[in-house]
Amino acid sequence: MEREIKRHLAHIVKEIGPRPTGSSSNRKAEKYLAEEMESYGLEVEREAFSCLDWQLGEVFLRLGGREVPVRAADYTRGGEVRAPLQCCGSRKELEELEVGDRVLFLYGELTREPLMPKNFPFWNPREHQELLALLEARAPRAIISLSCSPGVLLPLIEDGDFPLPCAVVGQDQERFFLEQEGQPVHLKIEARTSPSRGANVMASRPGKGPVLALTAHLDTRPGTPGALDNGTGLALLLALASQLGRRKGQLPLELIALNGEDYYTNPGQVLLAETRLGEAGHYGLAVNFDGIAYREGPTGFSFYQCSDNFQARVQHLAEQYPGLVKMQPWPQGDHMIFVNRGLGALALTSRRIFDLQPGIIHSPGDVLELVDPRKIARAASFILDLIEDLDRERGGKVAGA
Ligand SMILES: [Zn+2]
Repeated sequence: MEREIKRHLAHIVKEIGPRPTGSSSNRKAEKYLAEEMESYGLEVEREAFSCLDWQLGEVFLRLGGREVPVRAADYTRGGEVRAPLQCCGSRKELEELEVGDRVLFLYGELTREPLMPKNFPFWNPREHQELLALLEARAPRAIISLSCSPGVLLPLIEDGDFPLPCAVVGQDQERFFLEQEGQPVHLKIEARTSPSRGANVMASRPGKGPVLALTAHLDTRPGTPGALDNGTGLALLLALASQLGRRKGQLPLELIALNGEDYYTNPGQVLLAETRLGEAGHYGLAVNFDGIAYREGPTGFSFYQCSDNFQARVQHLAEQYPGLVKMQPWPQGDHMIFVNRGLGALALTSRRIFDLQPGIIHSPGDVLELVDPRKIARAASFILDLIEDLDRERGGKVAGA
């Protein structure tokens, strides 16, 4: 199994590389998943949706006679702007500000955390939406935000539906920008969007009763090879497909490569929520794989709305697998779309994945060298054992909530 896993990782992470939803490489990943799963004798379907393909070209920023290191926010509008700099460090200040024909620099309490995109369908706090609306109403020529995290360039707004060019500079630039207020900024972001499509890829094994969903997202952020996020989850899904194609069982299964976890509107997740997940009783339980097999530390599993009986069984099974431990719930990722519908879920990730966030995850640094493929093989064996254990219950009761 390990050799097969290495082959999948090399193909997805190295050969295909960055695979943001809407891009041609995303469609390559989609095709690879579908063909591999079909080759294992599973019935494969694709459910397509519309989205945008976003491509970034040249980006630069000049202020006070120097070129400042800058990053364009993912999915931003492009544009070339020459206008005076206006600084703003609080919401109160923003409410009273006349911005007009200026480039707005945001810092202080405004850049404490990234804002959820305008049309993000799941978790979306009201304060975020109010701030976005306020910024849009102020209509600056462009927005430059101070990074929301030290040491990396973490944008405030990453949203294809936000109508202004957005860029981010490092926290070390704060003083320089404040000193330059009123001075001319020259910001150029070459970005292009075009209508595109994407699809979820689903392989199924028929059976009786509610379906056990096994999920991993197939897309990445733009510009990252996405080894841990989520090449490893896909390699695990394919390793499961190769085994499940040969094994008979009563429990109906769907292996779903979801498309859009790292895209600003989660289109594949929304599609699933509107289709199969919208049918009452279709699913019984979901198991999601995201960010597994980081070479440091154990693989962690966490429970969401699962029965005590099910938790005890999983924990008992895990005792046979060194390097698999229970961890604190991680209420992000694709398991949450099932949880939001009242279903039980189990999520697998690397317990130390948070050491890599932000900075490595979603960056060009998320490479195969961070991955231990043996941990994927071990997690696959664990999940196959769990499926066999659930199978003995004759499908029907998938032991979720
Ligand atoms: Zn992920």
